[in-house]
Amino acid sequence: MSVIASNLQAVKARIERAAIAAGRAPESVALLAVSKTWPLACVLEAAAAGQRAFGENYVQEGCEKIQSCPVPTLEWHFIGPLQSNKSRPIAEHFAWVHSIDRLKIAERLSAQRPAALPPLQVCIQVNVSGEASKSGCMPDEALALVRAVAQLPRIQVRGLMAIPEPVDDEARQRAPFRQMKILFDQICAAGIPLDTLSMGMSHDLEAAVAEGATLVRIGTAIFGERHYA
Ligand SMILES: *Cc1c(COP(=O)(O)O)cnc(C)c1O
Repeated sequence: MSVIASNLQAVKARIERAAIAAGRAPESVALLAVSKTWPLACVLEAAAAGQRAFGENYVQEGCEKIQSCPVPTLEWHFIGPLQSNKSRPIAEHFAWVHSIDRLKIAERLSAQRPAALPPLQVCIQVNVSGEASKSGCMPDEALALVRAVAQLPRIQVRGLMAIPEPVDDEARQRAPFRQMKILFDQICAAGIPLDTLSMGMSHDLEAAVAEGATLVRIGTAIFGERHYA
């Protein structure tokens, strides 16, 4: 078995253990393989091991991979910071965007989404722990932003996404994820049916699953340590 295939198996086992410990069905947590910085060959190795959904952070790198990918059934998610002047290739190539943090960028993506493609599936990114990156809307702005984005014709709002500050101990990891789950439930209760809570990475997936993540975004634990050029 390839290293990537066995890493994938190990990550799925971690998700399964965390779900069962939380009294949740393991199938209720989807796995997004974050392939940023890794060549298409690594994506294809993961695909051969059964992985279908892949996450990319950089527009040009992601679009090049998507366009040269010989497997048409893969599902590509954009999870990186959004710049207005680079929104068009995202609207044209990706199935999902997790990092919507303002109405203006959602309006651009909706306007640029080709009519021949299904609506763009999106999550609203929430800045839940005042993280250094400063991306994401404030928690108290999330409901209004979800409502506004939900009106756009070529976009379907699916949920919320967060990237909390990295910390080591699980109790501290869980606090921002718990806040996200409360916000998620409040928005659902306000009449907007969300089904995706995108949170949890290689170092904190157990904490995220314990608090209700429905999708974890995993790079390092599948592909190895990244080396930025
Ligand atoms: C890189 C990245 C990940 C994956 O992080 P790992 O720690 O390698 O698992 C997940 N989400 C986002 C938004 C990322 O940028």
